[in-house]
Amino acid sequence: MALPVAEWQGRTARLWAALEPALRERLAAASLQDAVRLGCDVLRSKEEEEAALEQLCHRAPTGKKPEAASWYREQGNREFKRGRYQAALRLYSRVCLEDIARAESHGYPDRLLPKVLLRKAECLLCLGRLQDAQDFLRVLESKIALDGAMTTHLTRLKKLSQLKVKLGEKERCPEPAQGEHGGTQGEPEIWEENSSISGASSSLSLSFDAERGRHLVASQDIMAGQSLVKEEAFVSVLCPGESLALQDGDTAWDTRATNADLYCHRCLRQLLASVPCQGCSYAQYCSQDCADRAWQQYHRTECPLGALLLTLGVFCHVALRTVLLAGYAEVSRLVEGSHCGDKNLQNPEGSCRPLSEADAGAGSRGVPGCDSSGRYQSSYQALFHLLPHTEQHSPEHKFLCTLSVVALCKQLQAAGLEAAVLSQESPQQCSKPKTCEKTSEELSPELKTVAEAMLRHMLQLQCNAQAITVMQEMGPGDGAVVDKKPVRLATAFFPVLSLLNHSCCPNTSVSFSGTSVTVRAAQPISSGQEVLHCYGPHWCRMRVAERQQLLRQYFFKCRCPACLQELQSGVKSVVSIRNSFCCPKCRAQMQGEEDTLCCSIEACATSASRDHLSGRLQDLQQEIKKALELLRVGKADQAIKKLLKCRMDAETFLSPEHLMMGEMEDHLAQVYATVGKWQEAARHLRKSIEIVEMHHGPSSVETGHELFKLAQILFNGFAVSEALSTIQRAEGILSVHFGPQSAQMQELQEMKACLSELPRNILQRT
Ligand SMILES: [Zn+2]
Ligand SMILES: [Zn+2]
Ligand SMILES: [Zn+2]
Ligand SMILES: [Zn+2]
Repeated sequence: MALPVAEWQGRTARLWAALEPALRERLAAASLQDAVRLGCDVLRSKEEEEAALEQLCHRAPTGKKPEAASWYREQGNREFKRGRYQAALRLYSRVCLEDIARAESHGYPDRLLPKVLLRKAECLLCLGRLQDAQDFLRVLESKIALDGAMTTHLTRLKKLSQLKVKLGEKERCPEPAQGEHGGTQGEPEIWEENSSISGASSSLSLSFDAERGRHLVASQDIMAGQSLVKEEAFVSVLCPGESLALQDGDTAWDTRATNADLYCHRCLRQLLASVPCQGCSYAQYCSQDCADRAWQQYHRTECPLGALLLTLGVFCHVALRTVLLAGYAEVSRLVEGSHCGDKNLQNPEGSCRPLSEADAGAGSRGVPGCDSSGRYQSSYQALFHLLPHTEQHSPEHKFLCTLSVVALCKQLQAAGLEAAVLSQESPQQCSKPKTCEKTSEELSPELKTVAEAMLRHMLQLQCNAQAITVMQEMGPGDGAVVDKKPVRLATAFFPVLSLLNHSCCPNTSVSFSGTSVTVRAAQPISSGQEVLHCYGPHWCRMRVAERQQLLRQYFFKCRCPACLQELQSGVKSVVSIRNSFCCPKCRAQMQGEEDTLCCSIEACATSASRDHLSGRLQDLQQEIKKALELLRVGKADQAIKKLLKCRMDAETFLSPEHLMMGEMEDHLAQVYATVGKWQEAARHLRKSIEIVEMHHGPSSVETGHELFKLAQILFNGFAVSEALSTIQRAEGILSVHFGPQSAQMQELQEMKACLSELPRNILQRT
């Protein structure tokens, strides 16, 4: 997805292999400028390659047809999110018919039905059919009252009362109030911006040395939860994304919409009513304002190239958009500067401004990417100075990037978009691109400069691409227990965030809101310590060998405390100890690095082959998958049976702390929650939490999310005092990682408020 589609990668690889050895050598050693020139030459003599690329662009995505009710539901959700309430209403009505028919033939009510009914009420409300909405809500209320404990979740009652409040508001004032503020809770955070690094806290300073490059250091003691960086992405591109359900691994739940359908292509906010681009079927925006701005800034150039950009991948797309946002004047200034050894870059005006002592900061003058006053800004100049590692990439990879960028620039020229790229015409004149007759024409010198900058950005992305993630709802979506997992939404450049070096045991936590990032201290950081962030391979999730393998793409060897400890002292990683097999006879831990594992109790002397045990683990995973599938189609009882059997089987060969044991407990909790057995659900979730705590630590994000789930289960089960204490624990952890204003924190606050207002009659009913 980040790189071009496999077919294009394959073609360029074959082309590379067929090149004259002398040319290969020249390309391998070429500067970015020469690479673009040579790339143009190669592509000019290979028209069939460009034709093949064009062919690849015609491919349409394929999807499979799910069963009727869930298909209508998905389509309904999709329409609902697009704000097409009429269409959604029609589809939800179909779901109700389908599900009622199914419930009658199976004698089992669909657990998703109440959610659909609530959604239907919401549709009526949005359509302004207030009388219908009111009637429908009344029916719904009596239905929920009749259904009893089985399908009535407190979450739904909450939703119902929210709808009633909304209805009341709409009846009072017909014009809906825009931009209502959800949370009033939570104190504003203390934030003082650094005078020499934009977007960074004043408690940090920028340092530079040969070993670590540029990095950020605490210049005073920092508390856990304190915000350290708040930065708006310089550029971001929404990842088209596979179906969201597939992101979770394999379980297909009821959402089949992709990122592109759910989020604004410019600001990444969730779409409620989308404004589609007039020129293409791909780009959608949250508002006319976003659509207009995107068009002005970049989409007028990107719009005619949609299919090509999807084919060439997100990195190529980010590279193009970066150049478009920077503007040609700035791009050519920096590209030309890089040709004469970067001498004038620090000082673009050519004259040195007088500098006050205070301005100079902690000696950051002369640090690459800083401006003449020594300030580091989240700017194109800073982005341009992120290391492209031109010499360290494999020549094949460089060749792929070069050809992709050149092909894209040739297409820009052929489609008559060059003027738009160089911003020489007003957007009105650009709206009708005129096609150039000769497509095999040599690239203009300006477009060669653009191509060179894009190639640099594509190479930089390998080390500096930052994934923007959102917490997305997983699970059956019946609203009882909301399970959220981070999902990659977009790829972006954050020049300030890029100053942070990697550690497998970082002291910060990163979260996103739209296109902006917030870095918070995950623990107290004392003055003088480096501020570090994890690029992906975390010590809790991988062994040192796997981490070092993954970190090779960043061209450095990690020397964080976790890596050093595991590498030097030969200490087995916590991951391998906790995720070990146990003896089938005595259940002690199995040992050994070879193909045969032995029981750690000498007297037992049982041995087993590693392959055999790994095979059993895979079988177990398959069975768990089947259980989740049963849950998905509403066969909760069978899912419980299967999961309990899986757990019994697992106990005979997995250590009790194995992550898989925790996962099974988590799934069991989920299934029990869907059938309203809250106590059972809570019991299993507590076990899952124990294991998660062991693997990730008691104050980790992972533990925070599990506690959040437990809070929901206890809340639904009316276990008031334990719910309140769990909410408090979850708040303590989640506020450190996501801040007091985050969505999760607000939900916890709402639950607390709801518990305190709980009517006596509901409490007495159970
Ligand atoms: Zn938007
Ligand atoms: Zn468009
Ligand atoms: Zn490390
Ligand atoms: Zn044994």
